[in-house]
Amino acid sequence: MPEKQLQVELLAYTPDPEKTCALAARTCYSGLEYDELKAQVDEKDQAAFLRRIVASGHLSVLEHASFTFGVSGVSRALLAQITRHRIASFSVQSQRYVSLAEGFGYIIPPRIKALGEDAVEEFESQMAQMQAWYQGWQDKLGNGEGSNEDARFVLPNACETHITLTMNARELLHFFSLRCCNRAQWEIRALAKEMLRQCKLVAPVIFEYAGPACISGPCPEGAKSCGDMTNVREMYRSL
Ligand SMILES: Cc1cc2nc3c(=O)[nH]c(=O)nc-3n(C[C@H](O)[C@H](O)[C@H](O)COP(=O)(O)OP(=O)(O)OC[C@H]3O[C@@H](n4cnc5c(N)ncnc54)[C@H](O)[C@@H]3O)c2cc1C
Repeated sequence: MPEKQLQVELLAYTPDPEKTCALAARTCYSGLEYDELKAQVDEKDQAAFLRRIVASGHLSVLEHASFTFGVSGVSRALLAQITRHRIASFSVQSQRYVSLAEGFGYIIPPRIKALGEDAVEEFESQMAQMQAWYQGWQDKLGNGEGSNEDARFVLPNACETHITLTMNARELLHFFSLRCCNRAQWEIRALAKEMLRQCKLVAPVIFEYAGPACISGPCPEGAKSCGDMTNVREMYRSL
């Protein structure tokens, strides 16, 4: 039963995401046919135009660019949080169809690791105990889908899962504003940060000011603010 580490890959995205969004925005303000409009967008750098559009809050144009990620090395605890984002599409490794009899992977929280080797050993032995319970129930229930779906009830939140997820750029900006914040839970924050890093590589203008809300304004957390805005801003701007 191995410990698993976060892995994130931008599997696919709308070709030329920024041109596509700029073209969509120009549709609103132009009487040109599409071949002329496309030529206009191809000819001239659209960065300044797109920045103005995003700054003005005309964010629906960003819904024309989609980004699909493959995520593994994350816990079922993370799954419960990320699937709260309704403007996203998810495909998740099934605990009914996939038997974990060979051993489930798991995530060890950094704070448990920081307690030292004894703590990690204790955590790992608890995982091994749950693996034994799982196998015990599989044996009692017989092989196949039916036994997996009931044996999994003894598996922990730490259990690793695989998620293919798709969000459009508008939803990603919203997701990053909530989940890159220091107030977000550590695991989903690490995932959001890595997703943002990869988005910036392919759509630097759209995601220029993406990140927690304090990147582009005051912290909305009030008394619960981390108080570390200067470092947070610096970190996300140089991501
Ligand atoms: C730090 C933190 C702590 C949290 N703690 C808890 C907790 O203790 N308990 C808990 O249950 N949840 C908790 N959540 C989850 C949170 O309440 C949201 O469910 C989650 O962040 C998804 O956000 P969303 O609804 O804005 O986003 P999405 O579902 O991604 O939707 C994006 C936006 O679309 C619009 N939208 C979507 N659906 C609707 C709709 N039906 N009606 C109107 N507008 C809609 C809204 O403007 C919304 O902001 C927490 C989240 C964070 C970041």
